[in-house]
Amino acid sequence: MARPAEPSTEAGGETVLAEGYTTTAEHPKGADYYWICEPCFNDFKDRFEWDVAPG
Ligand SMILES: [Zn+2]
Repeated sequence: MARPAEPSTEAGGETVLAEGYTTTAEHPKGADYYWICEPCFNDFKDRFEWDVAPG
């Protein structure tokens, strides 16, 4: 499972990644363990049959 992720920021507060997906608490490694950008998610979701959780 994956869900939309909040924007990531560097120490200076500059937004470096606007959109992406991260793991949920259902993932064995826990919530936010992996982060992937939207283009990569779209590549992988078909391959691994990932689902997107609402919200
Ligand atoms: Zn990517």
